[in-house]
Amino acid sequence: MSEVEAQRQKEIQQAEELLFAGPQALGFAKGLFHGHFVADWVMPYPRVPAAQQTELDKTLAEVRQFLDEHLDPVAIDRQADIPRAVIDGLGRVGVLGTTAPVEFGGRGFMQMANCQVLEEIGSRCASTSVFVNAHHSIGIRALLLFGTHEQKQKWLPKLVTGEQLGAFALTEKEAGSDAANVQMQARPSPDGSHFILNGEKRYITNAAIAHVLTVMARTPVPDSDKTAITAFLVTPDMPGFTILEARMPKMGIRGTATGRFALRDVKVPKENILGPPGKGLKIALTVLDFGRTTFGACCTGAAKTCLRLAVEHANTRKQFNKTLGEFHLVKKKIARIAADAYAMEAMTTITASLIDRGLEDYMIETAMLKVFTTERLWEAINEAFQIYGGSAYFVDLPLERMVRDARINQIGEGSNEVLTSFIALVGMRGPGMEFKEIYDTMLKPSRGLGKAWTAGMHRLGAAVRIPDVPVRSAELRSFANQLGRLIWRFNIAVNRALIAYREPILDLQLVQERIAGAAMDLFASTCVLSRWDAELQFARRNGDSAPQTNHAADLFLRQSFRRIRRFLSDLNDNEDKALLAAAHSALRRE
Ligand SMILES: Cc1cc2nc3c(=O)[nH]c(=O)nc-3n(C[C@H](O)[C@H](O)[C@H](O)COP(=O)(O)OP(=O)(O)OC[C@H]3O[C@@H](n4cnc5c(N)ncnc54)[C@H](O)[C@@H]3O)c2cc1C
Repeated sequence: MSEVEAQRQKEIQQAEELLFAGPQALGFAKGLFHGHFVADWVMPYPRVPAAQQTELDKTLAEVRQFLDEHLDPVAIDRQADIPRAVIDGLGRVGVLGTTAPVEFGGRGFMQMANCQVLEEIGSRCASTSVFVNAHHSIGIRALLLFGTHEQKQKWLPKLVTGEQLGAFALTEKEAGSDAANVQMQARPSPDGSHFILNGEKRYITNAAIAHVLTVMARTPVPDSDKTAITAFLVTPDMPGFTILEARMPKMGIRGTATGRFALRDVKVPKENILGPPGKGLKIALTVLDFGRTTFGACCTGAAKTCLRLAVEHANTRKQFNKTLGEFHLVKKKIARIAADAYAMEAMTTITASLIDRGLEDYMIETAMLKVFTTERLWEAINEAFQIYGGSAYFVDLPLERMVRDARINQIGEGSNEVLTSFIALVGMRGPGMEFKEIYDTMLKPSRGLGKAWTAGMHRLGAAVRIPDVPVRSAELRSFANQLGRLIWRFNIAVNRALIAYREPILDLQLVQERIAGAAMDLFASTCVLSRWDAELQFARRNGDSAPQTNHAADLFLRQSFRRIRRFLSDLNDNEDKALLAAAHSALRRE
């Protein structure tokens, strides 16, 4: 077997291991790739249940008051530190244990409610929202999801109040985007009572201020020469735990403490293993699914801040005897930020609700949310920056800080390129398997026709049927019909790509990017339509017979549909060959 083929087999095996095994409900994103509109997951637009909403409103009011009085994003950025008093205060208002069960001192909120809290923090200070995410969304997540009752009882009470802090340590020099390539070793002791950990981690948020770190390390697979990743709870008081760099100086989110540490013969009791041994990669990716959801919330908050800042300036700054907001090229920027911010919030809410409602596999949706919201925020900040002109460049305004802070978003918790490829490949896996069944049977009819027939009928069924998008408001029917048609066209494009490229599609990232791009906009449009539909229904219930048009939602759908059509037509009409030739020529030059 060639080295390339061996690597491919390894990747396929890792992917198989990651994808949740066994029968499960068809999720929304996977449904899209099959040509279905799985309405139950996205319509009607989800709401936090009334009982929790009251509690959430109270918490949000407390959080806002605390942030108004004590959070100084400028000082945090300049001093490259979040003061301990702020951390303690965040703990007091419940932010550091929002989703932890009440029995361990948390607020017991659902993910949708948690996202509203994170949106509020993200709208003010990215350092603080990343710190909270590192602690709560990922740092203690594996403990919340996979910890035993005893482990939770032992660790959580101090972590949810902020008396202790958490961190999530996956990244290493050799394991960045290639998260499965963790090299940190965990060797079992001869008596099996503990593991001995050796290796280094880098770029870890909260590394030097955390009291408990979820650390991914490689353990031997019993009765084999293989190894697999296992999740461990490690504390800095364990002998051999060494901070190599407590705060790596950096460009943005400067208030967060991003560090490097080494474990040198660190003895970790076997009781500190989280979840099943050898399942650490799956645990890590599940943890990151939660992180990506709150990432979406933080980006939404920051995009709303961009909108507010852009509007304030456009309404006050005059040039050519007009306010900037009177110029169409400025209006274009403001309209796009408003449309995107509306979509980001809708997408965050629906993705969080998938977790709350117990959909087993929401990996594609969280990846879409992460890529979409981080890209849209980057654009929104850039547009707001442009509207402010030269003034944005100076440190007395927040935009230069927001630019520096936002740049990590497209890289951290899975770079957008890796996630784009992931969205396309995991999405296409379902229809791809059906085609494989058909091919294999054509090549070897002795396998029997049963499965191939079923697969063929599924593919054919999706190819002839335009899915129904069940909106309740008559004024949205035309958008719903267009969306249904685009899903049908998307399904045909996916089928064509699978038939045309077959297995090599695994390497064709330019094709994957268009398919993932279309899928993301289909999901975003769905979320916008669902939210707008709910708003219209709400207005009707309150006696408003002709509710006003939501211009942000209207614009988003029009622009999103245009982008989808473009992605699909570019699959057949592009300059990929020239692009690859130019890249090859440039890459060879050095
Ligand atoms: C401020 C900060 C905080 C962080 N906090 C944490 C933390 O708390 N815990 C933790 O475990 N990690 C953390 N990280 C690490 C972060 O998740 C990684 O930086 C990220 O996963 C990317 O890995 P890398 O930096 O090694 O980039 P690389 O893997 O070297 O990738 C570099 C670039 O190559 C491209 N690329 C890579 N692979 C592919 C591919 N397959 N296809 C196409 N393009 C590709 C992408 O454009 C990518 O941005 C943090 C990083 C930073 C900067």
